[in-house]
Amino acid sequence: MLNKLLFCQCYNGMSTKNVVFNNPKEFLSVLNKTYPFAKKWIKPQIFESEIPWPQEYFQTNGIGGANITGHFIKNNLKTPTTVIEGRCTKDKLLYELKKEKYSHVGFSVITNDFTNFIECTKLVRTHYPEITIIAGGYGSVYPIIENYVDYVCKGRGVPFLREILNEDINEQYNIGSIPYQIVAKVGNNKVIRDVLIITNKIGCPNDCNFCQTNKLFHNEFSKNIITPQEMFDFIIDYKKKNGNKTFTIQFAEPTAIIYKKWWYELFELFENIKGDFPLYLPTTSSSLKNLDFERITNSSLRFDTILIGIESFTKKYKKNTNVDLPKLIDKLNFYGIATLGTFVIGVPNQTKEDIRLEVSKFARLNLSWYELHNLKLSPLTSDIFIDKDDQVDKIPIDFHHLHGFQAFKHDYLKTGFEDLWPLTYELNKFCEKEFLPYTVNLYQVTKNLLKIKNSKLVKRNMKIYQIVSKKIFPIWKNYFNPSKNQIAKYIEKIDF
Ligand code: SF4
Repeated sequence: MLNKLLFCQCYNGMSTKNVVFNNPKEFLSVLNKTYPFAKKWIKPQIFESEIPWPQEYFQTNGIGGANITGHFIKNNLKTPTTVIEGRCTKDKLLYELKKEKYSHVGFSVITNDFTNFIECTKLVRTHYPEITIIAGGYGSVYPIIENYVDYVCKGRGVPFLREILNEDINEQYNIGSIPYQIVAKVGNNKVIRDVLIITNKIGCPNDCNFCQTNKLFHNEFSKNIITPQEMFDFIIDYKKKNGNKTFTIQFAEPTAIIYKKWWYELFELFENIKGDFPLYLPTTSSSLKNLDFERITNSSLRFDTILIGIESFTKKYKKNTNVDLPKLIDKLNFYGIATLGTFVIGVPNQTKEDIRLEVSKFARLNLSWYELHNLKLSPLTSDIFIDKDDQVDKIPIDFHHLHGFQAFKHDYLKTGFEDLWPLTYELNKFCEKEFLPYTVNLYQVTKNLLKIKNSKLVKRNMKIYQIVSKKIFPIWKNYFNPSKNQIAKYIEKIDF
């Protein structure tokens, strides 16, 4: 039988603020439905006492659940490969296995969908025992997984699969890409943003102790897979094939800017091209520190939003050393670039008050938006969990990586949702007041962008952000109960 691969991802997308923190009752019902085996850890009273964020308030969400790992794998194998989009379920898997004859099934496993993944492997074993099962990704680092699959990939997936599938492991690499859509909603009004997700690098050169990426790839990271010219041709070609519509180019690798020369060359290639090519990418503050923004302002390619891992003020991470963060963020604002900052809470020895103080400091940075993440438990980062609790072994693996769930023994946060979820809920509300809604900050940033790129599109976007910000102002004011200063800041920022 010829090799044919079916590639799936087991990922329960409960990572958006909209589900986890904006609507506690909805979150409770998702938990009960997804993890019926974990009732002991899901106490309804924790979620029922909170009032949901108003439905008419500004919300964003992804549509479709793109499987970027799957497309990266597919683009780098000669073996015919089918990718199941979104979360893999037993129904989707069975449907696909009945349709075509496969020799291999590959799973990209994310910890919060571990039980579903095991159920899927059992289904393959029962109905198609001749199929070889392979697992990889952050959720595949638990030793128990060996009982359910034939191979576990601990590191880079492409060379591992090429070897199993009798392909040349040294063959040149291709990028991965997949279109996706993000919907922003205010009441019944929706704006859909088209996005093209691209992977042009694997791994990360940094070694933040709480993060699994660097450890999963054993400190390795790849260089850019394609040249600036090839990237330019790829983007232009995609635009032509899609009716010349504007779309956001999102880089899926964790540190998109490593080699500045590569980026300068790419920006230069877009200098004589008409249109708008916004970029959304994660990178580090140190990679931005010496970037020459003047050099890239004549290009139709532009940084639209940059995600920066601020993570902590007490722990110094290499990626943020010697960077004046407020100055850097002001510089990005000046050039009309929105910023999304991530921050880690609940590190060992942090009291609730310590966490509140750190988050207050985080909220004083002039970022456009924020994401708070509680420190998660993983065998890859077990060295930072000073004292492993006996209970850890009894917590379902799915819950090791859940927002608002305390999975490792902590001196000041009880194991479970009990302390951490209400605290995170409180802090998200605090941030929404202190940062102000995203659209308010986008209006400000876009106003700055207009000084550099005076185009109809920029003006239109600015108008939309202003209209939305005005519309949600009374909702924000009534629900979050902001201070007089916060209200004044809101009014001033959107030119009421
Ligand atoms: S920079 Fe980001 S991806 Fe890299 S190790 Fe740190 S947190 Fe992980």
